Amino acid sequence: MRLVVLGASAAYAGPDEACSGYLVEDKNTKILLDCGTGVISNLFKWLDPCKLNVMVVSHFHPDHFLDIYPLRYYYQLDATIPNFSLRVLAPKGALDFLGGILSDDSKKRFTDIFNFEDINDKIEYEFGSLKLRFCKVNHLEPTYAVAVIGKKKLVYSSDTGYCESLVEFARGADTFICEATLQEAHAGAPVEHLTAKQAATIAKKAEVKKLLLTHIWPGYDRKISLKEAKGVFSETVFLKENEVHEI
Ligand SMILES: [Zn+2]
Repeated sequence: MRLVVLGASAAYAGPDEACSGYLVEDKNTKILLDCGTGVISNLFKWLDPCKLNVMVVSHFHPDHFLDIYPLRYYYQLDATIPNFSLRVLAPKGALDFLGGILSDDSKKRFTDIFNFEDINDKIEYEFGSLKLRFCKVNHLEPTYAVAVIGKKKLVYSSDTGYCESLVEFARGADTFICEATLQEAHAGAPVEHLTAKQAATIAKKAEVKKLLLTHIWPGYDRKISLKEAKGVFSETVFLKENEVHEI
């Protein structure tokens, strides 16, 4: 299993960056976790989007879904497989929310291409050699953390405040991608996001093997986030666009 970082930035993307997007691959199984601003441009560097088995939209904040609109035009007009359609696992109400800016005609094409399914956190999904599970976390209601399970286990926190359910969900993961929007200077801010230290605390409690910090606020010095996390959990790195990590 391997992870390709397509976007790791929070809220907006700086030069050569993109917002949230992670490609998880195992042989011919290809899963896209989130599709934020700039993700598609990076995705094209790695594969033809017609090779994707499924896309997950973890929640309805723009830094996690905006590139679904340009991706639609690729599938509609330039796809290597005519009439390609993609399963999209998203919170309930995806079509109303994402289709809200489209005309009726355009919405029809949008749904020909994207087959939206409500995420069910009580079941396990199977795509090729990989399984997906979901867990609600503390952010926009609802937001889902995702576990990708094959020979190894990868857990992606999505965006969240501190929650014990994420500790249980991430337990024993080989790779834990965790948001770390904030730094200690902003600890206690009234937003549902984690500091790097909190992300490391979850990683430690969950006894994961490796912590990959992501979604660090673009204006922050990432080295400070890394230092604050490593003080709690030494097996920590921060993610950068177009890196490949063996899971
Ligand atoms: Zn976000």
